[in-house]
Amino acid sequence: MNEFEIIEHYFKLPLINQKEVKLGIGDDAAVISLSQDKELVVSIDTLVEGVHFLKGLSPKDVANKSLLVNLSDIAAMGATPRWITLSLTLPENNSVWLEGFSKQFNKLLKNYSLALIGGDLTKGPLSITIQAHGIIPKGKFLQRSGAKPGDYIYVTGELGAAAYALRYLKNTDDNLKPTNDELEKLNKPEPKIQTGLELRDIATSCIDISDGLFTDLSHILNCSKVGADVKLNDIPYSKTLLKLDKDLAIDLALTGGDDYELCFTAPSNLSKSDLEKKITTSKFFKVGRINQLDSKLNLIGDDKKIYKLKSVGYQHF
Ligand code: ADP
Ligand code: MG
Repeated sequence: MNEFEIIEHYFKLPLINQKEVKLGIGDDAAVISLSQDKELVVSIDTLVEGVHFLKGLSPKDVANKSLLVNLSDIAAMGATPRWITLSLTLPENNSVWLEGFSKQFNKLLKNYSLALIGGDLTKGPLSITIQAHGIIPKGKFLQRSGAKPGDYIYVTGELGAAAYALRYLKNTDDNLKPTNDELEKLNKPEPKIQTGLELRDIATSCIDISDGLFTDLSHILNCSKVGADVKLNDIPYSKTLLKLDKDLAIDLALTGGDDYELCFTAPSNLSKSDLEKKITTSKFFKVGRINQLDSKLNLIGDDKKIYKLKSVGYQHF
């Protein structure tokens, strides 16, 4: 069983219904009814050293990555993040590490107007868990379900930068240095919070791309019970990828992960200029179209042929 099958089999069980829970397991975050006009959006993510970031990453970048990837899930729901809890597991009481981590962490809390309201501190292999909470007007949240046949599929930025940067840092044979922007994207992704807010009245579905466009768009298709055609020539490949072997570039852009862009669908009657008027805080690229074929994602390559990916991307199990 893979990660998603484990969740389905052991945890996504209809045990208890709480009427305040508007959206439970299966999306980027859960949604809880707060009052007549407000909902609470809650998400949690763990980052483990050696799994989610390379051993030896600076404490500053551990702070950057652990907080920003969590905010990306709140952005994908169209909510405004407001407060967080932080659970830290540290191998030792290292004041230099703690100074570096907390200095950057607190700076980000200020930048994003987030209150740190609690957490936990334990000894063990380095791991950071953050639960992020956001607020949204009632009924306005974006979700993975809702894509309709005929909708266009968009992504908010170039893909594959972080995946290539990671590959380069792991000392593979690549001698093509990633750009500074590509290296920065790996450890300091920019959660698309403002864009999430702009998408509330436009998108029929939305997800943040953490595991690669192929896996994350497949979540939209499964939840929406639709299929999709994606044109490989329309993918916005990150700069260095354009200089790589084409199959490798496609693999990195579609299965590499860590992009933290948003992938969303919108009705096809919204023209490019309609969208440009509403989406002002981010670029957006049309990469494909939703169809009726249940959950099937077709990648269309050159000569309109169906393209088969060479790798499946990272899986925890
Ligand atoms: P994301 O990549 O957006 O963080 P995940 O792929 O990690 O989302 O998780 C998919 C869904 O499964 C989410 O709704 C998440 O809350 C839920 N989930 C993950 N692990 C568990 C678990 N152990 N128990 C209950 N729900 C879980
Ligand atoms: Mg997510």
